[in-house]
Amino acid sequence: MWQRIKNALRGFMAGRHGADQLSLALLIAGLVLSLLTSFTGFALFYWLGLIAYIWGIFRMMSRNNAKRSEENLRWVTFWTKFKTEFKQFFVRLKNIRKYRYFKCPQCKARLRLPRKVGEVTVTCGKCHHQFKQKA
Ligand SMILES: [Zn+2]
Repeated sequence: MWQRIKNALRGFMAGRHGADQLSLALLIAGLVLSLLTSFTGFALFYWLGLIAYIWGIFRMMSRNNAKRSEENLRWVTFWTKFKTEFKQFFVRLKNIRKYRYFKCPQCKARLRLPRKVGEVTVTCGKCHHQFKQKA
């Protein structure tokens, strides 16, 4: 019985994209949004949640593997960057009394100086651009 269900499922999923990180994220987003709907009663959350579910399931059922893999890669890249930024934000918040944070005017790399060093010439570690910075 179970074997037959398993085989039928395997046949159904053959050639389909299946679950990946983006589909999983969409299903989680759908779940969070439906929880938000029950807490707040906002219809908008309900519709967004429904869209997330349908999109997630559509991606798993899709036979266009190349397109779905490309989307997933973009998502994973974005999410990794987002997590890093998020973590760094809290690190900066924790050290805000110790360091002055600023961006390189040329390459926008994030740099920091200990506070109260006065005006110094900074060399960017990434692009080697030199500029004066007060801290
Ligand atoms: Zn730079």
